[in-house]
Amino acid sequence: MSSPHHCRHDAYGDGVASDLNIDNRQLIDRIASVARRGGRLLEAVDAAGYGGFLCTRRANVRYLTGFTGSNGWVLFGAAGATLVTDSRYREQAADEAPDCHLIVAEAGLTDALAEPLAELTSPVAFESGDLSVAAWQELAGAHEAVEWKGCTGLVEGLRVAKETTEISSIREALTIAELALEETVAGLRPGMTEVGLAAQLEYACRGWGAERMAFDTIVAAGRRGALPHARPGLRTLRRGDLLVVDMGCEAGGYCSDITRAVVLDGQLPAKWARVHDALRAARDAALAVVAAGVAARAVDAAARQALGEWGLDGAFIHSLGHGVGLEVHEAPRLAQRSDDVLVESSVVTIEPGVYLPGEGGMRLEDLVLVEDEGAEVLNRLPPSPMFSPC
Ligand code: ZN
Ligand code: ZN
Repeated sequence: MSSPHHCRHDAYGDGVASDLNIDNRQLIDRIASVARRGGRLLEAVDAAGYGGFLCTRRANVRYLTGFTGSNGWVLFGAAGATLVTDSRYREQAADEAPDCHLIVAEAGLTDALAEPLAELTSPVAFESGDLSVAAWQELAGAHEAVEWKGCTGLVEGLRVAKETTEISSIREALTIAELALEETVAGLRPGMTEVGLAAQLEYACRGWGAERMAFDTIVAAGRRGALPHARPGLRTLRRGDLLVVDMGCEAGGYCSDITRAVVLDGQLPAKWARVHDALRAARDAALAVVAAGVAARAVDAAARQALGEWGLDGAFIHSLGHGVGLEVHEAPRLAQRSDDVLVESSVVTIEPGVYLPGEGGMRLEDLVLVEDEGAEVLNRLPPSPMFSPC
């Protein structure tokens, strides 16, 4: 890929006819997969004994309907899905969610639910992990005849195993992040600040076609590297600095997440080279265990045990990884106390880290596709420290 302008749109071609063909095919694929998801949701709703399901969480609304606006709820019942939104999204909602019955709310979304709710039998489930207490009180107060049941994780559970198109978007988001990281490290010079470096990484991501960053970019130099979620500050980067860079962006609504150790204009001190060897060993030990059907905590344990062989397990102060999709942190959790089991076609991070208070830190984070009998590392960048040119 020779320039940012050619990274995402080659597939669309230049001609109007090919544009239409591709767009139509994509639209048909999208409608088909949204319909499949709605069908799976209704099965789950039915199996749980609910007469309906009110979906309010933004990522879940997008997953189930295709609607990407910031204000929309969708009510599922035996007769189908009703999307309620406000007048700003009238056209967009009709375009993105053609399968849904659309209601454009005159006032709030709560009141607009009266008509479709009247057709459902109780109990109706709602996403209790998402609604604020105030929104819940308003909903319950406005629709007293409905027996509401709070539920969590219903749609999130459906989202764990990714479809082919979802995996493609995650790959694309990761490619963009890696291109941006390579390009930015190649131009890294002493005198830049942590915030300045974060800004350059984010600018490069946008140049390669990212829709937005998936989370606040982490750039932590020197001793600040010991803080796993350090916010970039105004510290000036110096020759020989060791940095933790953790970044990710979105493409097609899907996230990427990658961490590399970056060395500014110098060499990695022997002590930190050893730490990176340990992280690499922990990553490889975890990858050797990843497969569908494996307990997520066993993958975390494999990495922790490998770090223990280097005497560094005590310096690994967070969990090993998390699922990535429409949200950068989603199910499953790869942690010591996780009860999750890995599922085929899910995408997870493997991110062992070593943090030495007062000295600094290192983390190595890759994105991994869980397969029936193993795993595919989605990263193209090698699991190595990156060096700015001297
Ligand atoms: Zn990360
Ligand atoms: Zn992560």
